[in-house]
Amino acid sequence: MIPQSQVSCQTDSSDRGTWQSQLISAIRDPEVLCQRLRLNTSDLSLSAQAHKDFPLLVPIAFAELMETGNPDDPLLLQVLNRSEEDTNPPGYSDDPLQEQGFNPLPGLVHKYPGRVLLIVTGKCAINCRYCFRRSFAYGDNNPGRQDWQAAISYIRERSNITEVIYSGGDPLSAPDKHLAWLTEQLEEIPHLKRLRIHTRLPVVIPDRINDDFLSWVTKSRLRTQVVLHINHPNEIGEELIKAVKKLINAGIQPLNQSVLLRGINDSVETLQALQEAGFDAGIMPYYLFCLDRVRGASHFEVPLNKAHKIWTELQQRLPGYLVPRLALEEPGENSKTLL
Ligand SMILES: *Cc1c(COP(=O)(O)O)cnc(C)c1O
Ligand code: SF4
Repeated sequence: MIPQSQVSCQTDSSDRGTWQSQLISAIRDPEVLCQRLRLNTSDLSLSAQAHKDFPLLVPIAFAELMETGNPDDPLLLQVLNRSEEDTNPPGYSDDPLQEQGFNPLPGLVHKYPGRVLLIVTGKCAINCRYCFRRSFAYGDNNPGRQDWQAAISYIRERSNITEVIYSGGDPLSAPDKHLAWLTEQLEEIPHLKRLRIHTRLPVVIPDRINDDFLSWVTKSRLRTQVVLHINHPNEIGEELIKAVKKLINAGIQPLNQSVLLRGINDSVETLQALQEAGFDAGIMPYYLFCLDRVRGASHFEVPLNKAHKIWTELQQRLPGYLVPRLALEEPGENSKTLL
């Protein structure tokens, strides 16, 4: 028996503080990040312009998973504003998926039958350099409560829509109060069955999976699916493993989608380690995406034939249930394109 005096007070936050305070104290200065990792900014060929266009943003919990003194650290390369971003090869654009055309209302993207995507917020807890939303028109896609009524009516009027996907930005950078409110509105639509949350937040601030989040999710009549976004096995630290346990205990089976990124995870060994570490933590694979051709991300591109070769070898090495679907998003298609 533990004497009562030694039982610590149960709160939502770890020693890092609440997820909101961790968001506020995230690193926003490339110099600060480099100093922390004992790297010389002068050796790294950073781009001030890239930082201005899409500022560096890294929560401390994620920075702590990076290796000190390694300029090629796979987590660092995902967030650092490097001069390669300044090149602008043909085929790369600000809206590679042409989502603007599938945006019938502010905050709602309806491309695939049966499911709609809600841009719950334009904010993220981290800025990933390869992100296809790095130039998305968030200003027009940040609806307030009143605007949500239009999106909710759109779904109510279409009885073939059975699933709502919370997206962004990162939907979990929105406050739980707002998410709980929106979910309650959606629950009143009888033909809706499922809620899906696509989020990287628990990966970069594991304390995001707290009691406030779990209480509205578990209360919902909608079956909930959480899709995490992890690209490299080093992103799966002790704190994320604990957060995933909480999801599983709440009856949610987390999935993972990754983006195939040159110099970060474009090897069979790394991808195998990622699936195995994920499975050990209780996460099942979903998609492995080829890069969207967004301006500033061309240095991350893996040619399709190489992607397919890596994937084929991965399929040979892993049990079928640990092989993510290799996919590509093409404008105008009714689903992701499987390769
Ligand atoms: C990716 C995506 C979905 C979900 O597709 P799944 O194959 O069901 O994961 C839904 N809507 C939009 C607009 C998407 O981009
Ligand atoms: S968390 Fe997701 S939406 Fe946000 S910057 Fe990264 S990839 Fe883009």
